[in-house]
Amino acid sequence: MKTPVTIAYGDGIGPEIMTATLRMLEAAGAQIEPEVIEVGEKVYKAGHSSGIASEAWDSLRRTKVFLKAPITTPSGGGYKSLNVTIRKTLGLYANVRPCVSYAPFVPTPHPIMDLVIIRENEEDLYAGIEHRQTDEVFQCLKLITRPGSEKIVRYAFEYARANGRRRVTCMTKDNIMKMTDGLFRKVFDEVRAEYAEIETDHYIIDIGTARMATRPDRFDVVVTPNLYGDILSDVAAEITGSVGLAPSANIGEHVAMFEAIHGSAPDIAGRGIANPSGLMLAAVMMLVHVRQPQVAARLHNAWLKTIEDGIYTAELQQGRLGRAFGSFDFASAVIERLGQAPAKLTPVQYAETPAAAPKPTYRRRPPAKKEIVGVDVFVHAPEVSADYLAGRLQTLTHQPKPAGFQLQMITNRGVKVWPGGFPETFCTDHWRCRFVGVDAEGQPRPISHADIVALLHNLEDDRLDFIKTENLCTFDGEPGYALGQGQ
Ligand code: NAD
Repeated sequence: MKTPVTIAYGDGIGPEIMTATLRMLEAAGAQIEPEVIEVGEKVYKAGHSSGIASEAWDSLRRTKVFLKAPITTPSGGGYKSLNVTIRKTLGLYANVRPCVSYAPFVPTPHPIMDLVIIRENEEDLYAGIEHRQTDEVFQCLKLITRPGSEKIVRYAFEYARANGRRRVTCMTKDNIMKMTDGLFRKVFDEVRAEYAEIETDHYIIDIGTARMATRPDRFDVVVTPNLYGDILSDVAAEITGSVGLAPSANIGEHVAMFEAIHGSAPDIAGRGIANPSGLMLAAVMMLVHVRQPQVAARLHNAWLKTIEDGIYTAELQQGRLGRAFGSFDFASAVIERLGQAPAKLTPVQYAETPAAAPKPTYRRRPPAKKEIVGVDVFVHAPEVSADYLAGRLQTLTHQPKPAGFQLQMITNRGVKVWPGGFPETFCTDHWRCRFVGVDAEGQPRPISHADIVALLHNLEDDRLDFIKTENLCTFDGEPGYALGQGQ
């Protein structure tokens, strides 16, 4: 019985490396039934702004296994990333990126390196919720959720346990983003208690990335939010010798997608020189996933032998004697070695019945007692001073309608500029004005949505351009908002 697999040839070098990979899969005896779908540039240009047509979604939901070549996403403007759309729409929450050194056969400053980056795949700044708010200010929302954090952290520990890995490292920036990255790290601290046999540690992402670039042998499994994981895995892959070597699996509860970590490499597209290894190794991960471990090992070992025999694509060839192999010649060299194993590199073996793929589910908690205690109103006001704006806003809180608000502070780009601002602080046209509920004695009091609407009416009557509001809430009495910088 062949396993149906959805295939996309992608953009740029995609068609070259996918053709080479499918040749290697066929020669190795992979029992797969490819269903080819069209995604990416051609589809965008045919008028589907999502980059994928409905028949393609049908195929993905039917086969539940996707081998995808890279797709081009316009930078700066234009269409949204289809990669991100697919990962989020199909709930592919775990992005698993193994990065391994093949020294001395692939030149690398780090001969001892065998780590796996587990990148959260659905949240963070990749939620893609962006707005232009004023003439000068653009915003992107960073969303970190408890379900998302629990699922990915638990996945990392389950993965470590199933694959005999000894350590899980968490990387965040929770010294700055105390609430969002703070939640991710808090969840890591909670979950690690359930896996006593696994060592754990935490790095702030900046020093963690630096250590990854200089001492990758220190790391085993790394779990991290989306953007950090994206950057960190390119660093890790590149220092193994080439970004073209690294595969990835995007795992969800229902569907899994396998791809190289690199992009469509438009700079070398159409020249037949791209390295198909990242995509081919992703196909090996796919074969393990669809329970064809022997074919996976046969192909992986032939590939290791090819590397050991000094057969390289152009980006790895630099400075070596002999010719660089093109994508298809490289694939032929792998095919010639099917049935052989590497002599120096460690041959791989995949268990006949692999450890059950970890699929953590989230157990929802009872809701906290939530109270609104204030509101941040974001105002677009060019060429004003914080003191002037504060004076104007204070008169609005005293008007009869929303009795019981106090202007507590104003920040500009997060730094407190009123009360007690510094003339040195550079201010844009974007002000966050924090109002808290107070009673007749000036003591804190809970407020209602109606109070906030009334306050906004007052701002409107005074022709102030408010852009958005954020409610200030407590959850079981704990503040659910950060202080202003310098507050
Ligand atoms: P890239 O990964 O495509 O290329 C970066 C560099 O690495 C280039 O010099 C390229 O020639 C080289 N390179 C990449 N893969 C290689 C391979 N297999 N063999 C030899 N050399 C290789 O990154 P980029 O240039 O920043 O992005 C190009 C496009 O790819 C963008 O539109 C981006 O959005 C997209 N992208 C797609 C995916 C995906 O589909 N999953 C991932 C990353 C980037």
